Amino acid sequence: MDTKEIFDRIEMLKDEMVGFLAEIVSVPAVGPLSGGDGEAEKASVIERYLRKFGLDEINRYDVLDDTVSSGYRPNIKVSYKGKGSGHRIVIITHMDVVPPGDIEEWDSEPFKVKVNDGRMIGRGVEDNGQALTASIFALRTIKDLDIRPVHDIAIFLVSDEEETNEKGMGHLVSEGLIGGDDIILVPDHGEPTGKLIELVEKSILWVRVTVKGRQCHASMPHLGNNAFRASMVLGSRIDRALHDRFDRKDETFDHPFSSFEPTKRETEASGINVLPGEDVFYFDCRLLPGVPIDDVILEIRRIADEVQKEAGVSIDIDPVLRETTLQPTLPDAEIVRMLSNAIIHTTGKTPYTGGIGGGTCAAILRNKGLEVAVWETIHNQAHAPNEYILIDNMVSDCKVLASLFTLDDQ
Ligand SMILES: [Zn+2]
Repeated sequence: MDTKEIFDRIEMLKDEMVGFLAEIVSVPAVGPLSGGDGEAEKASVIERYLRKFGLDEINRYDVLDDTVSSGYRPNIKVSYKGKGSGHRIVIITHMDVVPPGDIEEWDSEPFKVKVNDGRMIGRGVEDNGQALTASIFALRTIKDLDIRPVHDIAIFLVSDEEETNEKGMGHLVSEGLIGGDDIILVPDHGEPTGKLIELVEKSILWVRVTVKGRQCHASMPHLGNNAFRASMVLGSRIDRALHDRFDRKDETFDHPFSSFEPTKRETEASGINVLPGEDVFYFDCRLLPGVPIDDVILEIRRIADEVQKEAGVSIDIDPVLRETTLQPTLPDAEIVRMLSNAIIHTTGKTPYTGGIGGGTCAAILRNKGLEVAVWETIHNQAHAPNEYILIDNMVSDCKVLASLFTLDDQ
């Protein structure tokens, strides 16, 4: 197939892509745990467009959820038949978005896209609107041009990525809808050059530390036990010990070490003259592959025992989130070969493989033993106020995806 014809067609569709993305962003799809009403309406809008584009091989895998007014969380699959290579190219993007956050920080309305100087600004334009749009338009293009690619193609549009994944990716995987010989791309992280193909993510551990002493008047410290003081000692010892003990370096990652960051503090409201009886703080830990989450928890517990004894306080250690990276995708995986070819062919840039500290739903698939690449061209605006994309990046990514669908034909 002549890729020039494909690329010309995508250029022609540029304004339609912008219009499509603007319209889907205008339907807020925030999950119920973040105070939203889910993705049902957005899914209907998207499905209507898919049918209009002639992409009518649509399946729905909705999951019941009585915490949203529709009663369900939608998951859409759009399929396109290839010549029957036995393989299927699978692209997974998510429909849900995070809330806008502090409205004061926005210069425009989050759910009303502003187009300005080659940019689109709005909540969800990047995360994950750009890739959702690019993949649908790549498929539409090969449909418009009547191309029958070697491989079957399936695009999944899922719910619940920003919260639990249970009503989205988790459900699709447990139903066996993705797997086997699928060649899988999750375009939900990247960087501005569009050269990073992400193959591994760090494990994530969030720990809550609760220190309990005894509250009293600050002028009579002998009557109480200051939880804040014990907590300061504890926090700094945990910080030092984790960095000392888990200090391995892995150049695959931009930040090539495990990270251990004290982040949130929750302390009961009290006065300056009150000696605090309780102190609560959190660590956000991102572990290189091969660092067992349990080893980190045990180390924190060991230090807590020490401080407990020294300061006479009681200390609880609660892991509130743990996501283990079991299996990175290898650089010689089929998806990496095909995607690299598509990037080189389309942009002339030479991609490289690496890892990130953040998490995408690719981790769920990788932990099932599947090979998954994560790639797109973005400016890392996810979850930020004034989230934006460059329209040129969306168009270029669309061409890369169309190449991914069709290059093996030659
Ligand atoms: Zn995302």
